[in-house]
Amino acid sequence: MADRMRAQDFDSDGYFCPDGEARYSLLGHPIAIPAMVTYSGKTEHEEIILSAHVPIGDCPRCGERTVGDTLIFATNQYRLLVLCCCDRVIWTTEEFLKEKREENGERTERDFE
Ligand SMILES: [Zn+2]
Repeated sequence: MADRMRAQDFDSDGYFCPDGEARYSLLGHPIAIPAMVTYSGKTEHEEIILSAHVPIGDCPRCGERTVGDTLIFATNQYRLLVLCCCDRVIWTTEEFLKEKREENGERTERDFE
């Protein structure tokens, strides 16, 4: 499903609106996580339990420095990133995001709160 999603299909409130009319919330919906991302190596289904805007530093896909916060959705184990810079929606894990932040040597204002 995420493969077919584009970042531009999400509005600023985090609703999915692929046709620009109806708005869907992903919260509470079980969603398929592709095998290439899951710990089991198989497609898994988990419910989206929260959405948030967080700083991610450089885009994990295109490498561009993201400006402002990035919309992410979280399941119990996985994260769905909505990447406006390259208009893609990708799955990843919290561990990956953490690693990435450390790699960048990044501290955000939020770390000091
Ligand atoms: Zn990007």
